[in-house]
Parts: sequence; structure tokens; C-alpha cells
Amino acid sequence: MAKYTEADCRLCRREGTKLFLKGERCTSKKCAVEKRPAPPGQHGLSRKKVSEYGTQLREKQKAKRAYGLLERQFRQYYERASSMKGNTGEQMICLLERRLDNVAFRMGIGGSRAESRQIVNHGHLTVNGKNVNIPSYQVKAGDVIAVKDSKKDNAIFKELKGAKITMPKWLTFDTEALKGSIVELPKREDADLTIKEHMIVELYSK
Ligand code: SF4
Repeated sequence: MAKYTEADCRLCRREGTKLFLKGERCTSKKCAVEKRPAPPGQHGLSRKKVSEYGTQLREKQKAKRAYGLLERQFRQYYERASSMKGNTGEQMICLLERRLDNVAFRMGIGGSRAESRQIVNHGHLTVNGKNVNIPSYQVKAGDVIAVKDSKKDNAIFKELKGAKITMPKWLTFDTEALKGSIVELPKREDADLTIKEHMIVELYSK
């Protein structure tokens, strides 16, 4: 699968915010946004005033990079959201939150969305008892997500056992049983990212 090759921390510095791409490092003093908040590159601090288009573009890049998607994949979320009832930007964020890789990340299964995606890709999880290895799988209210019994001895999951994890209210996860559920569908305010989604809608609807 195609993927970004630019170093993760450079992406955060470019967007001027933490995108939480590197697990524990993101909440430590080693975080590059904390240490060097200026955009990367020789002229990072001397950038000119950004146009309205530029601001909208940056907001889109921020969301796209946080969820680790390529342009075509990201745009599909906008298109799907625009055919739904309600606020398009909010619907788009909710659809992104419902991706299985994001749900795994929010449950603590993986230290970053990229790691959680790899866990899904490698077939470590089940949804309602069935194997699902598609990171973009859209969860529904009531779905049960679990680490496969045969994978529970894997080092990643051993570390997770018994850990205390702050869970968003739309999810539950039992770190002993390594099993959780979707209590309800996420709302916009449940996303843990500061994204101005209306700007993304303005950009795409031009
Ligand atoms: Fe790097 Fe994580 Fe900090 Fe982003 S949030 S700069 S990925 S350490």
C-alpha cells in the first residue's frame, strides 16, 4: 500500500499541532512539536501570510495525516459524508472515527493509528467473533472488538493486559479480557483532534 514517506514528526511540525503519530513519544518531552514548534525546513519561521485556500488546505492535510490516509481515500470520506443527512464536516469526522484502525487505537490496541492499522492488517482482531483485517472497516453501535485468542500471548497484547486506559465514552475496552465494544456511534466532539472540518468542506466544495 502507498504511504507517506516524510518523517512523522515533520508532518506534525508542518501542521503546527500534535498528530500523535509515534505512540508514547507523543506524550513525552521528546515530542518534536514541543521541542521545535516551528515548521520544518530552513525557512520554517519566515513563512508568509497564508491565504484562505492555504489555511483550508492545511486543515485538510492535518486531518488526512492524523488518520494516515492518502488523498483519494480521504476524499471518499468527504463524498460519503456529503450524501448523508446533517453537517457534512461533522459526519466526515464521525466516519473517520468509525474506522476499525482508529477504534483499535482509541481502545489502546496500538500506540499510534499506524501501529493499530498494522495490528488490524495482520489479522489480530475480530469483530463480532469474525476475523476482520480491513483497517477502513466501519464499526457499528453494538459491535464487539476483540484480540484473537491465538494472538493474546503476542508481546504487544501482553503489555496491554491490565493497563489503565482512558476511554472515550462511546467505547469500552476490558484490558484483562482484551475485548471491547462500541457503546454508541461517535459524535463530532468525541474525536480527539483539533480539526476545523468546515474548512475541509469549503475546500472540497469549491
Ligand atoms: Fe512526533 Fe508524536 Fe510529537 Fe507528532 S506528536 S511531533 S509524531 S512525537
